[in-house]
Amino acid sequence: MSRTEMPKTRAEWQQRAADLTLEKGLETRAFINDVFVAAASGETFETRNPATGEVLAEVASCDAADADVAVSHARAAFDGGAWSRLAPGKRKKALLRLADLMEADKAELALLDTLDMGKPISSSLGDISGAIACFRYQAECIDKLYGEVAPTGDEALALVLREPLGVVASIVPWNFPLMMTAWKVAPALAAGNSVILKPSEKSPLSALRLAQLAHEAGLPRGVFQVLPGFGHTVGRALALSMEVDCLAFTGSTATGKQLMQYAGESNLKRLYLECGGKSPNLVFADCKDLDRVAKHAAAAIFHNQGEVCIAGSRLLVENSIREAFVDKVVAAAERMQPGDPLDPDSFMGAMVDETQYQRVLGFIRQGQEEGARLRAGGEATAVDGKGFFIPPTVFDGVTPEMAIGREEIFGPVLSVFGFDSEEEAVRLANDSVYGLAAGLWSQDIDRIMRVTRRLQSGQVFVNNWAGGDQTMPFGGVKQSGNGRDKSHHSLEEYSDLKSVWMSLAT
Ligand code: NAD
Repeated sequence: MSRTEMPKTRAEWQQRAADLTLEKGLETRAFINDVFVAAASGETFETRNPATGEVLAEVASCDAADADVAVSHARAAFDGGAWSRLAPGKRKKALLRLADLMEADKAELALLDTLDMGKPISSSLGDISGAIACFRYQAECIDKLYGEVAPTGDEALALVLREPLGVVASIVPWNFPLMMTAWKVAPALAAGNSVILKPSEKSPLSALRLAQLAHEAGLPRGVFQVLPGFGHTVGRALALSMEVDCLAFTGSTATGKQLMQYAGESNLKRLYLECGGKSPNLVFADCKDLDRVAKHAAAAIFHNQGEVCIAGSRLLVENSIREAFVDKVVAAAERMQPGDPLDPDSFMGAMVDETQYQRVLGFIRQGQEEGARLRAGGEATAVDGKGFFIPPTVFDGVTPEMAIGREEIFGPVLSVFGFDSEEEAVRLANDSVYGLAAGLWSQDIDRIMRVTRRLQSGQVFVNNWAGGDQTMPFGGVKQSGNGRDKSHHSLEEYSDLKSVWMSLAT
């Protein structure tokens, strides 16, 4: 099977996985100034397949020394202007070329994400399509954005110019490795910046493949670099760098807080944070088709093993339908059992690693100890006798004081709350330090608008969960962060306004 062919069956995906070797081009080194190199220290770290426990590869473990080198190349590339001053239409062409290369390499990119972090191959293919769509959208935007001429008298011409920032460092998580990367890297590159990407240490492989494709697409030297490694080493160095102008981060709220301190301790670099969530999903008794809503409510938490920032992890149900509705959610959950991530029919895969697996199991124990009613799941499982798998787990009778009702678990654990009135539903929904997403299911348009306006959330999904496309900004309020990925608004984060007042003789 050729590299561009799309495997169809589990056996074909397994064969493609077996073919992924260093000899056949699997890249594990850092990408600095257009070449792949070992980390300056020579150190490496293991990346493992959580579905089998096998070591996939030894990857370059970059640290501060590599960050310094990459930052100086990024700065030189920016100052040189080969990308930063290139006509936007030409940047567009290069990024569209990159998107086409990603399209041709879709099977391999998806496979790398699945092997690295355990998500089902069908989900990874969806993520890669999303990443490609993001590159295309941002590329297409960049030669259609105009500056402004301010309203002055004849004595002046006043221009508002939009310019790239300089060196952008992007630090991303492991749950949607390439898609989260695209959401940061595509607009930052489109706007003309030099970008240094630090993928998660739990999922570095697709980022390194992206670097190979960026090289093939002809991006100038130093404009896109990838530094695999740990947060406390290379991530910290980028965040503390005096030469990084912008840090675009997706990850946990705890790390986001740390990065704010680093920005303050260093050069006050602008910082965009996309952090955690504990998103409420509100179901009112007036919904028409409760079976359909229950299936969506289950998928809202169990998709991607619950390792989703916008997972609908708090299900708020009107008490008059709660018993019956939870039965339907449990029935839907039972049909979403984890399977081999390389099986195209699997809906859930493995947890990303043993640490996350133990953490989620710890929350499940705590939920039981705190008195929530376990309705489904609750015990670890295995696939073919291996791996870190947890089945869909549903707790009813959860209260805001319980850890499972309050903290981001980042696993397949649903906490169900009951409410008696719209007022109580809104109060429960907003009773969280997070504000990333919220869902609302009802047929009453007046209620929908009333509640939507009152929900403290970056996005509200009405009669769906996680709807949206490249045209919609994505981000949170409160401790879910301050950035907005996707849409033309994300270009605003990676560019600055310059005001030019020209005096004219009248
Ligand atoms: P994490 O915060 O542990 O790590 C994220 C990235 O930050 C990784 O690359 C890591 O190496 C790096 N990092 C960690 N400590 C660092 C430090 N001190 N300095 C610099 N870099 C550091 O998060 P994670 O476990 O990878 O991802 C899960 C979290 O991401 C969840 O909280 C989830 O909600 C969040 N997330 C948010 C969004 C969103 O759009 N809001 C999307 C996906 C994931």
